[in-house]
Amino acid sequence: MSHSWDLVVIGAGAVGSAALRAASERGAKALCLEQHTPAHERGSSHGLSRIFRHAYFEHPDYVPLLRHSTARFETLERESGVTLLHRCGMLVVGPAGSEVVAGSLESGRRWHVAVEALDAPALRTRFPWFAYPDEAVGAFEANAGLVRPEAAVHAALGAARSRGAELRIGARVRALVEDAGGVWVETDAGRERTNTVIVAAGAWTPRLLPELAPLLTVTRQVQAWVAVAAGIDAGAMPCWLFDRGPSERALYGLAPDPAAPMNAAGESSPAHHPKVGLHGSSDLVDPELGAAPVADADLERLHRAYRVVAPALAGRVVAAATCLYTMSPDGHFIVGTRRGSQRIHFAAGLSGHGFKLAPALGDALVDLATHGRTGLPVDFLSPARFVTTRAAQ
Ligand SMILES: Cc1cc2nc3c(=O)[nH]c(=O)nc-3n(C[C@H](O)[C@H](O)[C@H](O)COP(=O)(O)OP(=O)(O)OC[C@H]3O[C@@H](n4cnc5c(N)ncnc54)[C@H](O)[C@@H]3O)c2cc1C
Repeated sequence: MSHSWDLVVIGAGAVGSAALRAASERGAKALCLEQHTPAHERGSSHGLSRIFRHAYFEHPDYVPLLRHSTARFETLERESGVTLLHRCGMLVVGPAGSEVVAGSLESGRRWHVAVEALDAPALRTRFPWFAYPDEAVGAFEANAGLVRPEAAVHAALGAARSRGAELRIGARVRALVEDAGGVWVETDAGRERTNTVIVAAGAWTPRLLPELAPLLTVTRQVQAWVAVAAGIDAGAMPCWLFDRGPSERALYGLAPDPAAPMNAAGESSPAHHPKVGLHGSSDLVDPELGAAPVADADLERLHRAYRVVAPALAGRVVAAATCLYTMSPDGHFIVGTRRGSQRIHFAAGLSGHGFKLAPALGDALVDLATHGRTGLPVDFLSPARFVTTRAAQ
């Protein structure tokens, strides 16, 4: 059986759910196809918390997109009645000359984001949960914090469905076949006819857009929720990231989530504890097979890292989970329109920092699908920057 759609979105993770919401707001007849379930545990959008911030060391050009995204999360909170953001602040710390700290301060200066520069004495006074060498420098953004990923994905999908968009779960797309009049989206259960397509397939993107395969590397990440040491008030902690220099992976932590619900038995959730992780890894993953489960060696590696910088977290591991990063060659997103097509648009290679930006990506992709262009400043994320590689565009 086939239907005609204005837009088919493939994937109901961070980006797909945001795109479906945006499409529904524009009155498009839109369908989202998800092979598993929204924000499932084999992808990249689960784990109870994600950091959002605006003083962005990765690249200052993200700042307008970050502001746009946070505003869109806020409207989604109002529309859904679900709390999605917890503004506990974001602290970045590094050695003297740290590019992470300097980049955060510079993007704050350039875009008038309120971010404070801190030296070691100020860090020790304001954020006593961590250990700082005397030459440590830091930057703190108060208007940052955590966003609840599963809740945000479900709220976006709910908002879209309330406007008439359709979501099909357990619906796996096998191929996209474009012709002069539209695109056939071939699934295990048949095919759909649509005017345009947004591929928001995360780690599975190369299966649908094989030309992007040389640009995308999927890696296994471990996140662990850790009890704090006795006498520590974890509720006052910010989210944080320690730049440990060029030879070590950055270590990050997320604050406990005060709004996390108890489970059915009245027990606390892992989200009531701080979460820690090392940013990046070289463990390659085939998303079809999934990541290997968390092992003792993963937790020992994490513990070795956090006991040095965050002695307040010296407690037991409450829960742990794997998750996938889909890395691009330069760590920046790849957003655009398939080469030779005007109908198939994508966001890929979110490189471990995409959740907070998903609403802007969803809006930009729907702009591309609807008008062929977007007013959102995503040009710096175009695949054209890889034009010297064989796989570009
Ligand atoms: C441990 C960890 C910590 C992170 N921390 C942060 C953070 O603090 N802040 C931040 O901003 N970002 C963070 N990120 C990154 C962020 O979570 C991801 O960039 C983002 O969630 C990716 O969303 P996505 O929609 O691209 O992918 P996904 O959420 O994986 O969604 C893709 C979806 O497409 C579906 N799909 C794929 N192929 C098909 C097909 N053929 N047919 C049907 N469905 C299909 C998949 O099943 C999946 O549900 C973190 C990521 C990890 C793993």
